[in-house]
Amino acid sequence: MADNPTVYDIVVLGGGSGGYATALRATELGLSVALIEADKVGGTCLHYGCIPTKAFLHAAEIADAARESERFGVKASLEGIDIAGVHQYKDGVVGRLHKGLQGLVKAHGITYVEGYGRLVAPDTVEVDGQRYTGRHVVLATGSYARTLPGLDIGGRVMTSDGALTLDRVPGSVVVLGGGVIGSEFASVWRSFGAEVTIVEALPHLLPAEDEALSKAFERAVRKRGITFSVGVRFQGVTQDENGVHVTLEDGTTYDAEYLLVAVGRGPRTEGLGYEEQGVTMDRGFVLTDERLRTSVPNVYAVGDIVPGLQLAHRGFAQGIFVAEEIAGLNPAPIVESGIPRVTYSDPEVASVGLTEAKAKETYGADAVETLEYNLGGNGKSQILGTTGFVKLVRRKDGPVVGVHMIGARVGELIAEGQLVVNWEAYPEDVAALVHAHPTQNEALGEAFLALAGKPLHAHN
Ligand SMILES: Cc1cc2nc3c(=O)[nH]c(=O)nc-3n(C[C@H](O)[C@H](O)[C@H](O)COP(=O)(O)OP(=O)(O)OC[C@H]3O[C@@H](n4cnc5c(N)ncnc54)[C@H](O)[C@@H]3O)c2cc1C
Repeated sequence: MADNPTVYDIVVLGGGSGGYATALRATELGLSVALIEADKVGGTCLHYGCIPTKAFLHAAEIADAARESERFGVKASLEGIDIAGVHQYKDGVVGRLHKGLQGLVKAHGITYVEGYGRLVAPDTVEVDGQRYTGRHVVLATGSYARTLPGLDIGGRVMTSDGALTLDRVPGSVVVLGGGVIGSEFASVWRSFGAEVTIVEALPHLLPAEDEALSKAFERAVRKRGITFSVGVRFQGVTQDENGVHVTLEDGTTYDAEYLLVAVGRGPRTEGLGYEEQGVTMDRGFVLTDERLRTSVPNVYAVGDIVPGLQLAHRGFAQGIFVAEEIAGLNPAPIVESGIPRVTYSDPEVASVGLTEAKAKETYGADAVETLEYNLGGNGKSQILGTTGFVKLVRRKDGPVVGVHMIGARVGELIAEGQLVVNWEAYPEDVAALVHAHPTQNEALGEAFLALAGKPLHAHN
């Protein structure tokens, strides 16, 4: 087959969050783009990650609302979970977004190439024998669900990919990994009625969060009847026709119908020609500088293959950055700690900026001040029946460097936290801004008032 004679401004390998964001922004800036995707545009986030899991979590919330309706004086009852109906709803959401995205790609005049690509020269990707050459190449091949050595996926042992297509609600599950993905699935299954056990090797669930949030999350999870083990490593699993038998290194055993392996995601870079073309890698990840340049001139990388937070909105931001960089707009580098993080379980956990521990490590223990505002004093949270708190971390006499929250729906509140942290606002500045009453957002307003030394509805 003849080579494609066009030389594109950018050839993007991988059409997930990072890759398609690069393509959309680049074409907005008048650059020509070939976007190569082996599966479906939208990648992990749209098809196997963010969106389907959040549809599951919304269905879970409705199940809980029905189950707990009498608390609000409403007589409803939960007859059960129609898992086929849940899948239909989830697939409908994904399908509509996929269609919308395909329309955007087309409307932007992006050359969309369906197929599996390999980097065969620093400026060229080959797909099914055809070569696509660009003045710049952006690597965006994403990630896959990892497992542990000797832990084979199959049968009753699955990753998030299998969990998203499971055609029944399990009676019982062991979730290996108490990070974001494990905690979200644990939450869904518990709401759907399953017995759930989480196994986490580190000392806390959601170990990357501020310890106050991790501990509060553990209390909330326990209250929901989810059991968990922390600080002990997984040893092995056997499975038969009835279920799985999980053993930890301290000899504890758990029996369940399924084991979900949620131990993190590895970079999808093997066999793609990156190393052969001279791209510097570290344990499969593509190393870049803060301008997302790899070690090979004109080759960039974005998204989950770049070490750091594996989040879709980081991929979007990096894609936009690289497109603008290539277009010569000299964008400001992305500050990793300014990227918001949300766990969409019940309760939700949301944070941006530095944890208390990290702030103390960075600025010194005496140079950091914290404040917790309990959602008990927040009208809307009382109406919703949720507990939790907002925790602010600031430099003494300086800006807010971290916002951390736990409680129902707090994920939606992180937008304000993110503005505050990234604009390096002082509590006094934010305290002067009026928050609508009664909203949960007001809890943030109250926290800033308290940190500015003028608490309103605060009991301590
Ligand atoms: C269960 C789950 C829940 C998640 N929830 C959230 C969430 O709520 N919020 C959030 O921000 N993030 C979430 N994430 C993470 C998010 O999905 C990723 O951070 C994001 O998808 C990374 O984008 P990416 O572009 O780097 O890679 P991907 O989205 O993985 O896209 C890479 C694309 O490249 C394609 N590709 C790979 N190799 C080739 C090749 N050789 N040729 C052609 N195409 C190729 C793949 O088919 C894929 O479509 C979740 C992930 C999972 C698994």
